[in-house]
Amino acid sequence: MNDFLSTPLAYLKGIGPAKAELLQKELSLFTFHDLLFHFPYRHIDRSKVYKIRELQADMPYIQVKGVLSNLRTLGTKGTERLVAELRDETGMIELVWFQGHKWIKDSLKSNQVYLAFGKPNAFNNQINIVHPNLDDPEDAANKKYLHIMPLYHCTERMKARGIDAKAIMKWINTLLLDPRLQMAETLSQEIMDDHKLLGRMQAIQQVHFPSNLAVLAQANYRLKFEEFFYIQLKLLRYKVKRHQLFNGIKLAQIGEQFNSFFHEHLPFELTNAQKRVLKEIRLDVKAGFQMNRLVQGDVGSGKTVVALMSMLMTLDNGYQACMMAPTEILANQHFITISSLVKDMAVRVKLLTGSTSAKEKRLIYAALEAGEIDILVGTHALIESKVNFKNLGMAIVDEQHRFGVEQRARLWQKNSKPPHVLVMTATPIPRTLAMTLYGDLDTSIIDELPAGRKPIQTILRYDSSRLAIYGFLKNEISKGRQIYMVYPLIEESEKMDYKNLVEGYEGLCKEFPEPKYQVGIVHGRMKAHEKDFEMQRFIRGETNILVATTVIEVGVNVPNASVMVIESAQKFGLSQLHQLRGRVGRGAEQSYCILMSDFKQSAEAKQRLKTMVETNDGFKIAEADLKLRGPGQLEGTAQSGVLDLKIADLAKDTEILAQARNTAQALLDKDPELKSPENAPILNYQRIYQKTAKWGRIY
Ligand code: ADP
Ligand code: MG
Repeated sequence: MNDFLSTPLAYLKGIGPAKAELLQKELSLFTFHDLLFHFPYRHIDRSKVYKIRELQADMPYIQVKGVLSNLRTLGTKGTERLVAELRDETGMIELVWFQGHKWIKDSLKSNQVYLAFGKPNAFNNQINIVHPNLDDPEDAANKKYLHIMPLYHCTERMKARGIDAKAIMKWINTLLLDPRLQMAETLSQEIMDDHKLLGRMQAIQQVHFPSNLAVLAQANYRLKFEEFFYIQLKLLRYKVKRHQLFNGIKLAQIGEQFNSFFHEHLPFELTNAQKRVLKEIRLDVKAGFQMNRLVQGDVGSGKTVVALMSMLMTLDNGYQACMMAPTEILANQHFITISSLVKDMAVRVKLLTGSTSAKEKRLIYAALEAGEIDILVGTHALIESKVNFKNLGMAIVDEQHRFGVEQRARLWQKNSKPPHVLVMTATPIPRTLAMTLYGDLDTSIIDELPAGRKPIQTILRYDSSRLAIYGFLKNEISKGRQIYMVYPLIEESEKMDYKNLVEGYEGLCKEFPEPKYQVGIVHGRMKAHEKDFEMQRFIRGETNILVATTVIEVGVNVPNASVMVIESAQKFGLSQLHQLRGRVGRGAEQSYCILMSDFKQSAEAKQRLKTMVETNDGFKIAEADLKLRGPGQLEGTAQSGVLDLKIADLAKDTEILAQARNTAQALLDKDPELKSPENAPILNYQRIYQKTAKWGRIY
């Protein structure tokens, strides 16, 4: 970065030390460079003046020109508002202010022509504009940059101190007009030509003050491309380096354990997808470099057995393996599943979690170092410093995107030679997110469910159908099926939710009376052994209905349960709903998911429920979730820092991301060290970027 760009903001005309400090605190803007990269969140097209007759309620921000009249205050204290009329030759609209009336009233003059900006609303079958911005048309015409006007984020504290979007706009304009401003190009000519990209300097100018909407789109494209490109370049360079630097543990042979499991103990035929993924893993681990692979697969696609067979490959070569899960319930479940799958084989499996007794822990630590444990299953307890393997060959991380990059890294450090790492996501994640969060990993996808599964039927019902639903449940129970009934337990309203759960349970017991029916209950406030007792009763088929909170979200596997009823389904997130639904449909019977909701739903909740009814495909659900909530909200992504994007949007800019990644890959294929002269701008910027980007890396 050159000196001008790194000048502190206090030195910009109109800012000064006090405002600079505020900009720093509120928006993390320190230098001229930072301010230029504080992009508008939206633009208002002021290049067109609409006629009043053309206005419609669904229009975005627009402007109209007219004569102001009939300025008056209406309502009583509390409902007070300022109202005026604006008239052109085609009609009249009302302008309304609920705040700041006094000041506004004093500053406006009747019978004068104004340009009014704002968003048209429908009110009593008429169009009005609430809180319009009024300008003198002469003034506006003189300010050329107002034609397509940028809008900038500012905080309440800034506004209180007189810094608003207009002030920011002015400062940026001042900077852009400064003759000392220079900005080095960061992409090669070849990439710019290939993708028809604007130059960097031009893109920065146009993204703030576009000459027209078409150039604005080009400027956005250029800057988004660049942002994605450098993230991808960084991730892909790690991948290249890792292959070059690390001699992985070579797992050359398929031996006794793998073969005997495959031929004698595997209780089902593997799906083609499972076979393909195992092959991909096998190719990695025998190649001599260190594997880092992400396995994605929908709920129920059979990731566990793929994990187990990969671990058996490891054992066959004289190494140990471990599998880490995000919760104790899940670790337990894996331990039980794996132990039972290998029960007739000479494989020593142990479980290590927070609940493991101190004495047992000591025994495990010793046995692990002596090489007397082959597979260790557990939670975060696995990455404590006391845990030392004799020779760890493979670490499997079952993620549910809950482990941070650093935690994954701790597993790698457990050996002089890093073990192979297999990351498995419990629910699918959208492609763009995978490319960003796991962009340095190779990816495998299990895109096929085991044969014979009938797709789960999902329906949405309201309270008015409750009796009919109970009738349906009784019918299912008479056929020998079991039922889950899940209540939300959301932290903020925990008391209320708990009350609902207990009331629901009591109501259900009346509706399904003993001795004909047995209803069980599990929730987070019960002791571990009580939960376990109830779960075991359900697993053994002694209870017909299990009332539960989301403690059963992951890991529970009762194939005879064929109905999942989710109460207040509008309160759940999409991936949670999908996980819950995944608890049924595990046996041969037709399964159902019934979403109970009340009529009062937010637009977003409505969309979530609709998505659930429309599709069983976890990948589609993940995409919808990303679009609805935005990447920052997705579980486990916020702390990763990877999503600190300034302009690009992982939910919307899928195509640009794919192009940027392909471009970065092609570049590294041709010039892995970025040594050629035409790639000098990239190498230079990459160095700066590497230093400033916030997130650390796995190794
Ligand atoms: P997930 O991918 O959600 O972790 P699991 O590994 O728990 O899925 O597998 C779900 C269920 O499907 C388990 O009961 C498992 O035994 C079974 N399963 C896995 N693979 C197959 C297969 N190829 N054929 C039949 N059943 C399978
Ligand atoms: Mg699983």
